[in-house]
Amino acid sequence: MADVGFIGLGNMGGPMAANLAKAGHAVTAFDISADALERAREAGAATAASVALAAAGREVVITMLPAGAEVSEVYRGEGGVLSAAAPGTLFIDCSTIDVDTARSVAATAAEGGWPLLDAPVSGGVAGAAAGTLTFMVGGEADAVARARPVLGDMGKAVIHAGASGAGQTAKVCNNLILAVSMIGVCEAFGMADRLGLERQTLFDIVSKATGQCWALTSYCPVPGPVEAAPSNRDYAPGFTAQMMLKDLRLAQTAAASAGAASPLGAEAAALYTLFCNAGNGADDFSGIMKMIGQGD
Ligand code: NAD
Repeated sequence: MADVGFIGLGNMGGPMAANLAKAGHAVTAFDISADALERAREAGAATAASVALAAAGREVVITMLPAGAEVSEVYRGEGGVLSAAAPGTLFIDCSTIDVDTARSVAATAAEGGWPLLDAPVSGGVAGAAAGTLTFMVGGEADAVARARPVLGDMGKAVIHAGASGAGQTAKVCNNLILAVSMIGVCEAFGMADRLGLERQTLFDIVSKATGQCWALTSYCPVPGPVEAAPSNRDYAPGFTAQMMLKDLRLAQTAAASAGAASPLGAEAAALYTLFCNAGNGADDFSGIMKMIGQGD
């Protein structure tokens, strides 16, 4: 069992840290939110009064923060992780952030001799609570091997994607596919409505045809066919539209920096911007059915 510092105890980090404590790791947690710290204490973690105290002397430090700016600040800022960590500490950033910041923070850590893995997750809040996340990991193979036992106590799969930044690259590629396929499914349901084809009938056919995809069969954006989908709870998240928009913007930034064309990603980002600006950012991302499909 490892001595783990855990920084960022929000919707994802809170249950992830709780699962580490449950598995028997010694977890020392920090968040700027007093409520989040209290929940971590109740879940069996010790709490620290600062980023530096959460990081000092740990074997492993895990961060689960909103975006690249917070990750850069928490690692490189005054009183940050890198000012306090012991030699040999393994850093694992599980936040979803831009590829350039992921690489740059890892390079700064490497100058001090520390490995820093980018290890964003798929699986959402439910996966974080159940300990069934998928980790997409970028960094050196020996550091990934060290991370596996700890990540394995929070997830069902740990996949080494490649060098530093490859985990974030995989994550934005995945969410680009997810957003585009969700919009396509919404468009199809909207069209079926207008042409008089029953939604359940469309679902039954497409789920056994070549249009089958996760957005349809696991997360159907119209109420009815998939009991567990947010569409049956008036689009309560789940995974918010605002989070999806953030990931689409990361995908666009990554595509631009690599000179890759991403026309459907650009369109998806524009549509999610309209949806969020209309006051729907806190809805589940499948709620875009209300705009694209002009549905219920
Ligand atoms: P969240 O906003 O619930 O949690 C972020 C936490 O970081 C908050 O508790 C906040 O107080 C804390 N924080 C911010 N700045 C800090 C600082 N300087 N020091 C210490 N703590 C600080 O967000 P979340 O839903 O837990 O998401 C975290 C990351 O995981 C994001 O990058 C998100 O894109 C990614 N992600 C989220 C989901 C999801 O379904 N929520 C799924 C996959 C990936």
